Amino acid sequence: MKKVNILIYSLISFIVAAVVSVVYLFNVQTLVQAKTVSNISVNTSETASYINEYTSKSYSYLKDAISLNDIDTQEELHSFISSYEDFGVYGMGYYQDNSYQYVSKIGSKNGNFKFTEISKRQTLDQDIAFTKERYIINNDSSLDMIMYNYEINNKKYFIFQRMEAIFDLFTNPYGENETYYLFASNDGMVTVTNYPTTGTVTLANIFRITNSVPEFIKAVEDNKLDTVDLKLEAEKRFYVSSSDVISSHNDNGIKVYSVVRTTFVNEVTNIVLYTTLVFVGVLILLLLGYSIFVFINLARIKYKYGREGSFIKDENHYSVLLDANGRVISKNAKFSSLGLRTSGTLARNMEILELAGEYENFPVLLKTRSQFTARTLDAEGKEIIINFLIIPNTYGYQALGSTTGDINVNEVVKVDNTPVISNDISLTENALTNDDINHLFKDDLYDTLNKKALYIELKKIIDKGADNLKKTYLFYFGNSNEEEVHRTYGSAIEEVLNSTIISTVQKVFGKEVSIYNIDDCHFAFFYDLNDTFHSLNKLINQVNEIMKKPAIVFSNEIETEIDFGIYHFASFDLVGLTPKKLIEKAALCFEHAVGLTNKTYKIYDSNLEVAFAMDDIIASDIKHGLDKKEFVAYFQPNYSLKDDRVSGFECLLRWNNDKYRNDSPFKYIQVAEKVGLINDIGYFTLIESFKLIKELNDPFLHISVNVSPAQFLQPGFIARLVSLYSLFEVPYEQICIEITETFLIQSMKEVIEKLKYLRSFGIKIYLDDFGTGYSSLLYLAELPIDVIKIDKAFITQLKTSKSSRTIVSELITIANELNIDIVAEGVEDDYQVNFLEKKKCNNIQGYYFSKPVSYEEAKEAVKIKRENRRAK
Ligand code: C2E
Ligand code: CA
Ligand code: CA
Repeated sequence: MKKVNILIYSLISFIVAAVVSVVYLFNVQTLVQAKTVSNISVNTSETASYINEYTSKSYSYLKDAISLNDIDTQEELHSFISSYEDFGVYGMGYYQDNSYQYVSKIGSKNGNFKFTEISKRQTLDQDIAFTKERYIINNDSSLDMIMYNYEINNKKYFIFQRMEAIFDLFTNPYGENETYYLFASNDGMVTVTNYPTTGTVTLANIFRITNSVPEFIKAVEDNKLDTVDLKLEAEKRFYVSSSDVISSHNDNGIKVYSVVRTTFVNEVTNIVLYTTLVFVGVLILLLLGYSIFVFINLARIKYKYGREGSFIKDENHYSVLLDANGRVISKNAKFSSLGLRTSGTLARNMEILELAGEYENFPVLLKTRSQFTARTLDAEGKEIIINFLIIPNTYGYQALGSTTGDINVNEVVKVDNTPVISNDISLTENALTNDDINHLFKDDLYDTLNKKALYIELKKIIDKGADNLKKTYLFYFGNSNEEEVHRTYGSAIEEVLNSTIISTVQKVFGKEVSIYNIDDCHFAFFYDLNDTFHSLNKLINQVNEIMKKPAIVFSNEIETEIDFGIYHFASFDLVGLTPKKLIEKAALCFEHAVGLTNKTYKIYDSNLEVAFAMDDIIASDIKHGLDKKEFVAYFQPNYSLKDDRVSGFECLLRWNNDKYRNDSPFKYIQVAEKVGLINDIGYFTLIESFKLIKELNDPFLHISVNVSPAQFLQPGFIARLVSLYSLFEVPYEQICIEITETFLIQSMKEVIEKLKYLRSFGIKIYLDDFGTGYSSLLYLAELPIDVIKIDKAFITQLKTSKSSRTIVSELITIANELNIDIVAEGVEDDYQVNFLEKKKCNNIQGYYFSKPVSYEEAKEAVKIKRENRRAK
């Protein structure tokens, strides 16, 4: 997520939270107010007492009026009603001869008065009504009314007063639609209501009560409406309260009900209010907290980015930041363009071939590998393979992917959780049965025994001595082209090949021989030879015979040779030896055999060690040298004749050790490569170069660093190298890589892929010692290189050898045509400089300008000029 997105997101969520809370709070408040202010029960009883008061006042007022007027005729009825119409009177009658005669506007179409005579028996209801002083009655819903009965001068009168006259009593504070009133008798009959109904109306109709009416009424009075199932207008909830009205004059008791619509059916108590407040408060806090969290996290990632380096801005690559478990923290636009979901670990969202579906191993892969291969769909839905470099940092990893691959899809090696075999032999042999051995010492890769089992067997031999093992030999074997096979075809094919090698050995030496896997490429077994020379030759010939045919693995034809290193226990004193040393001795023979052209085995003899001892000494000196920081990086300026200034440096290693000070690094670098120390040395020169270029702080300058083949092919080298640029914040074009021509040509396929990969960042590749290998000039165009360095052998001979001159001028012409830069190395004199300048080779490196100088001197050497150059 981009910074801006997060910002907007947090802001929006904060605003939404604030608005929701305010609205909600406001709502709660109104509801609570509705409950407390209206206090519906009070309202209802107010209404009730007002009706009582009003009707009672009306009753006596009208009584006085009748007494004064002595009404006997229809005309007199007419005029009385007319004069009191404003008072709500709309009908009046008297009792005479067993019938009621009255005048009213009820039922009259033209609004005129109408005279009606009703026989006494007509309605029981009205009969009852005549017995009451005041009575609320409804004939139809539009004409709710109050009936007054009088007995004046032994004559019975009755007056109807419109309910409308007192309608303003029911004006509710919550708006017309929010309050209903209704009058009902205790049996549940509704006499008057403003609730829209038709036909006979009972409380049960209106409220759709499922309980009995008395239960309902009781619940209303007790304010416990939740005990009755109230379904007024079905989905809406109401608050109901009641109060008696005109109770003293009505046997049945008339109640006035006030119904206020509210969303609360239960009591809106303070508890609800407070919990709501707390809830909303917590919500706001959470959102606030979340926003703060997002911001801090963002800052944290940004800070770490800065420190760890990240290519997230590098839009040429798919870049994604992962935490230690492989969960996606951040991705760049190019990665985002894939449109993947990136919740959870990356392995769940894109197919990672090395995992073979076992996602849970992704953290292991990140930890143990330097790259992985993913298969996914691009924005157009086309399947693509992306090779990712894994660059570790302190909080996780950065995976940097490119479709120009390092890896062949068919070669990916599955990641598993098998722990590394430790070399300790704490188990006691006696306690072990065959079953135990099979269990503990089985190696699944090739279905052999493992290294630990071999250690235990060797330990037994060392402890017991070889007295009764006169015929026993330790055979150490493996594919003599192992490295090349690994380089060219990868581990998957190498494994297939190794299993054929193992089965060949098993076939020749017999099924009963137990084979031990030493390091997945080299194996061993014990074998008894009766007559060393003859029986050994026979067996080896058999092996050679089988291996003559090239192995065919996944339609690759691979030439393989099995070599053996053989150690005879009884020939040597085993005292003081360890299993590890014994295996090393056998391995030494093996290596020797690999070097022999006419033999595929070597039996151990003590002379053998002398040759290797030299290298051993150098190796251990290198180790100490590294510890004591004896290695120093020197820098030899490159001079640009065109720009007339120093254009950069080549980093060259120097060993600050009396024994090696005057040796060419070439000598010990080869040993370092062999014994696996090259990475430490190589990393050191890289770091020094990065430091220097950063300190020089001049975009015009570059430093080229020699990278040896073993270093270059080391898994993880590319990732490590690439990560340095951002670590040091150095542009890619300022640190360049030199690889030798011979190396490039020899390991073509694999190296070229990696070089292309490096170049995709903009890292420049120098082809060193050009001309010493056997590459054809025509081939140059196809190589992924930016600069070639003409070997100093040609430069040295310029003056004396015509062919050198021809080669150099041809080379310069072709390189210029191909747009490849060219550097002449080992330039020492004016003749050479002039020649090169004339031929338009503008970049010069050599003692003519300067010898390699120390880090500190290099900072000065930048200022060297052609006129005042240092060395002559
Ligand atoms: P190279 O890469 O061809 O390095 C150039 C060599 O030529 C250097 O030798 C340099 O000192 C020498 N040289 C430069 N100008 C002149 C000149 O005008 N006249 C003469 N006669 N020699 C000149 P150096 O430093 O002894 O290195 C020898 C080789 O060791 C290098 O050959 C390179 O292959 C290897 N090497 C040096 N440093 C490193 C390193 O850090 N890593 C790796 N992998 N190899 C290195
Ligand atoms: Ca070089
Ligand atoms: Ca060179």
